[in-house]
Amino acid sequence: MSRAIASTADEAGWQVRVHNLMRSGLGVEEIAVELGCPACDVREEAELLRAQGRLDAMYGVAPAAAPPAKDIDAQWRADREAGREGDWMDAAMEDLGWAGVAKAQMKAKGLTRATKACLRCGAKVRLELLGPRRHLRAACPTPRCMRIME
Ligand SMILES: [Zn+2]
Repeated sequence: MSRAIASTADEAGWQVRVHNLMRSGLGVEEIAVELGCPACDVREEAELLRAQGRLDAMYGVAPAAAPPAKDIDAQWRADREAGREGDWMDAAMEDLGWAGVAKAQMKAKGLTRATKACLRCGAKVRLELLGPRRHLRAACPTPRCMRIME
């Protein structure tokens, strides 16, 4: 991680560039590619802005034009408050289907580690096949989004 040892001035410059790219409507992944930095760094910055209530402003008055990752956390709370427990099971079954496909793809390529866009929010999910029986473990970086332990 080069950013960890970067000076405060570099850090500020990086932030300004991230903010400018957000204002131009680019998503986290696109910004990471543009700046040649890890997507998790950009996502961290986006989460920080969201926590400060500044993220929507970054994406201007028409957030629908370039929606950031879906707010899974808010969705989860809304579902719980509305008593939609059944939706949770449906989502879990969908996740398993997605994971089955991902596992088959990894096996076909001989991979034990891979990343794949999240079925629910589009963030990059890390997948791992563990142990001699190749059990799949997958975790989406979005809070309360997909978690799979086979
Ligand atoms: Zn997700």
